[in-house]
Amino acid sequence: MELYKENKLKIYNSLSKSKELFKPLVEGRVGMYVCGPTVYSNVHLGNIRTFMSFDMVYRYLLHLGYKVRYVRNITDAGHLENDADEGEDRIAKKARLEQIEPMEVVQRYVVDFHNVTNKYNFLPPSIEPTATGHIVEQIEMIKEIVKKGLAYEVNGSVYFDVLKYNETNRYGILSGRTIEDAIHNTRALDGQSDKKNPQDFALWKKADERHIMRWPSPWSDGFPGWHLECSVMSSKYLGEQFDIHGGGMDLKFPHHECEIAQSKTCSGVSPVNYWMHANMLLLNGQKMAKSTGNFVLPNDILTGNNDVLPKDFGVGVVRFFIMQAHYRSILDFSGEALLASEKGYKKLIEAINLLDDVEASSESTFNVKEWRQKCYDAMNDDFNTPILISHLFEAVKFINQLKDDKATISKDDLVLLKSTINAFVFDVLGLVNDVEEHSSDKLDGVVELLIKLRKQARENKDWALSDQIRDELLEKGIQLKDGREGTTYSIN
Ligand code: AMP
Ligand code: ZN
Repeated sequence: MELYKENKLKIYNSLSKSKELFKPLVEGRVGMYVCGPTVYSNVHLGNIRTFMSFDMVYRYLLHLGYKVRYVRNITDAGHLENDADEGEDRIAKKARLEQIEPMEVVQRYVVDFHNVTNKYNFLPPSIEPTATGHIVEQIEMIKEIVKKGLAYEVNGSVYFDVLKYNETNRYGILSGRTIEDAIHNTRALDGQSDKKNPQDFALWKKADERHIMRWPSPWSDGFPGWHLECSVMSSKYLGEQFDIHGGGMDLKFPHHECEIAQSKTCSGVSPVNYWMHANMLLLNGQKMAKSTGNFVLPNDILTGNNDVLPKDFGVGVVRFFIMQAHYRSILDFSGEALLASEKGYKKLIEAINLLDDVEASSESTFNVKEWRQKCYDAMNDDFNTPILISHLFEAVKFINQLKDDKATISKDDLVLLKSTINAFVFDVLGLVNDVEEHSSDKLDGVVELLIKLRKQARENKDWALSDQIRDELLEKGIQLKDGREGTTYSIN
């Protein structure tokens, strides 16, 4: 269904800093590029938040009936330790420390990334290209930039001439930075002395003898600069101009700014119509980041094996937690927040499960069509998932009234309510109906059973068995507490 014809989707464009009506270059089709992970370590939940935001965008575009080509790359070379073209390649460094091949590092963390995205119910992108798979194209793009007079070679490395580009273009158009700001962002270290100006950035770097990830080129045996791969792979698979480019806020500068400069130099046109940036996930008030050790791994949330959360949580709860915030807002991760999300998520899924038993009447006491439109309006307003969720809860309230015979619904409305709620909850938000399957719910059932057996043992004055149940559970980290209301338990 071509729902996009009747839905006026607005997207906040980081370039214009305003919400704009979304008009793809080709009607009914969308090209979307999202910067993917640098595969030198396990993705943390912060990375996953950004990718999940774009998974939701992709899902909504598909729901609206667009044919979407979604390209999300894998950075497997060229991303140095810091953004100022200095330091070791992140992957090569890991390989050196672990005494394995760089491609073993890449393989390990690509597999981890795919495991996590599968578990977390992501739709796979249409194309997932790698930097190392496009070295030839990257060298061609550098030649083109050199030909246009905007890059120069020094000692086997090639740099982009930012000042010259800025004479006829605006470097800083996306991030709002000036050329002077850009100087402060770079550090005058040894490796930079080759550059004409400190703002310039590397397109190709000559590899020193220790640098093992290297390829032949007209300038030297070396490797491409980090920003180049995204210009190359986006234009190769989506064209010189395409609709949406996404990434985390922290990629706006220098990464996306450099991408614009490179692409525009080659094609003469602004490459991206809608730039979208997702905001950061915080832990303990700080950005979740691998480098500071302030992070949680997505798998450890599912197993409960972490120091941050009181217990394990399922995929549905974590996705619900992330979707409860707008993608452009900062989100704080904590055990309390997840416990609150778990309550809300269960309420939502239980209401959806109830719908199967609802019987239709002749009339509805709830305006389903109006409610459905409000759900679309929320998503059309720059993918406002928290507002969508608040509308979903209006439906939850109504479903619970139906169960208690305090409301009625017509046959047609029941069909519409079911299809709409399923579409938004499962297709668009990507939540999963795992309330029953989730391990902590199963555990709950098992412990409740043991509490019941212990009660029976006590009633039979079988103190030995009753103590055995209590003590063995305690050994396994489950503490029973006898109170006036009965026995409860906590997990230590
Ligand atoms: P990287 O692998 O470092 O290139 O990062 C992959 C993606 O994760 C990028 O789009 C980053 O902007 C994003 N990212 C990194 N840290 C966070 C965070 N704490 N919250 C949200 N997104 C993040
Ligand atoms: Zn990128």
